[in-house]
Amino acid sequence: MSKSKFIFVTGGVSSSLGKGIISASLAKLLQARGFSVTIQKFDPYINVDPGTLNPYEHGECYVTEDGAETDLDLGHYERFLNVKTSQANNVTTGKVYQTVIEKERKGDFLGKTVQVIPHITNEIKRRIRLLEEKGSFDVIITEIGGTVGDIESLPYIESVRQLRWELGKNNSLVIHLTLVPYLSAAKELKTKPTQHSVKTLMESGITADILVCRTEHEISDDIKNKLALFCNVEVDSVIQSIDASTIYEVPLLMKNEKLDQVVLKKLDLKISNGTNLEKWSSFVDRLKFPKNKIKIGLIGKYVELQDSYKSILESLIHAGSENETQVEVVSIHSEYIDEKQIKNEICKLDGVLVAPGFGSRGIEGKIEAIKCAREENIPFFGICLGMQMAVIEFSRNILGLKDANSTEMEENTPHPVIALMENQKNITNKGGTMRLGSWECKIESNSKVSEIYKSEIISERHRHRWELNDNYRDELNKKGLKSCGTNPETGLVEIIELSSNDWFIGVQFHPEYKSTVECPHPLFVSFVKACLNYKKSKN
Ligand code: GLN
Repeated sequence: MSKSKFIFVTGGVSSSLGKGIISASLAKLLQARGFSVTIQKFDPYINVDPGTLNPYEHGECYVTEDGAETDLDLGHYERFLNVKTSQANNVTTGKVYQTVIEKERKGDFLGKTVQVIPHITNEIKRRIRLLEEKGSFDVIITEIGGTVGDIESLPYIESVRQLRWELGKNNSLVIHLTLVPYLSAAKELKTKPTQHSVKTLMESGITADILVCRTEHEISDDIKNKLALFCNVEVDSVIQSIDASTIYEVPLLMKNEKLDQVVLKKLDLKISNGTNLEKWSSFVDRLKFPKNKIKIGLIGKYVELQDSYKSILESLIHAGSENETQVEVVSIHSEYIDEKQIKNEICKLDGVLVAPGFGSRGIEGKIEAIKCAREENIPFFGICLGMQMAVIEFSRNILGLKDANSTEMEENTPHPVIALMENQKNITNKGGTMRLGSWECKIESNSKVSEIYKSEIISERHRHRWELNDNYRDELNKKGLKSCGTNPETGLVEIIELSSNDWFIGVQFHPEYKSTVECPHPLFVSFVKACLNYKKSKN
């Protein structure tokens, strides 16, 4: 008898329908009814993790407390549930094969031919059930990446088929997320693509228990009846998921559609009376009806693809709601920043946020934007590479070290104010070798960040190789760029702030990974507030 109940979420018809958001929304509703829930994601690609993927390929790489570089959907899970995820919550085909091949090399299969079924599927099943052993979860939601019918998804679908037998009746269910397109010429919603994708799923031996139908228009009872009839599901298991103005509204829409109740009934779990969503609803209300508005420039080199900075954008939304302020984010491509743009656009912003990144493309633009923010006293927030660029800008323009740079950008720079950590120097493998995951940081008591965090020891997540070079620390401090947060063990500088400005903070870590709806990150909340004050002071 299994301890946890399992929900498998598959996708049909098209990619990008938002399986992650639907999974996170359902998890939120179950959590609000008192169940302990976790979500895991299985990605069918062969990379061992998304850490080596260019953000243009797959959006942001999300980092967990234990230092796993994972799919950005894990960020949604944490932001919605306010529960931490770990290595075990994201599995890729690369990871599965790596484990099986390592076992084969050790001779663990005792001379047997190693095959997709049963060896790969066994490993997938083992990893699906790993979270069951780890925690005391009432419900584990497993999202299968990709679209049903893809060649690379087949072993996962087969594993789900096998597991459902092993788990027994009422212990698992399959939610199929599908698209019901609207043909404007015919003025009609079309069910055929859904019928076909459910049929494809059936050919693999899986019947969907619940259909969640993405749509741009209301789905009528007639259409629901038709879908139920053709797809072998009960009518109340055809759930409409209409486009929402914000992803944070989706749990509320799913509650109206009774998705949680249908799920609990099918899993034989008790439907308690209340759903505790008060905090969530007031968050959404503040978000939808803000009292103020500010304009923040997000300066980075991957701005064409919004998903590249997913966690930063979501953190600004959380902080905006907390301040009852709509945060308009202007994406600014750091590669093309020139004097004209500085004067006409950047100088007029209410805040400047310089994003993380790798490599030299676009760094001079970042440095120019930081110079403008520093000189004009515009609130500035530098994250990881953004902080490193602030150090370079200050070194060049205030310390007078003309060619100051990071050795990442210019190996032989005469002034390596940002340099490689000693233990990174001999590393040649790119995957999983950065300074990753959660690290403690000790905050100086007489600093702005100490007022913001209200705590002496904090812990934040990292993903980088380079650091502020200790040899320049005193000189920077003397001129006002204060190191006000350091790693208690190594002494590495984690936070800098410019004492002469109202809000000028750079952090070597990624606070955006820890902001959630329930606990917006204090640095983002304070930054948005500072931008609002700055805007008011201008008028
Ligand atoms: N490229 C820089 C480093 O590796 C910054 C990384 C980042 O912004 N995540 O140190």
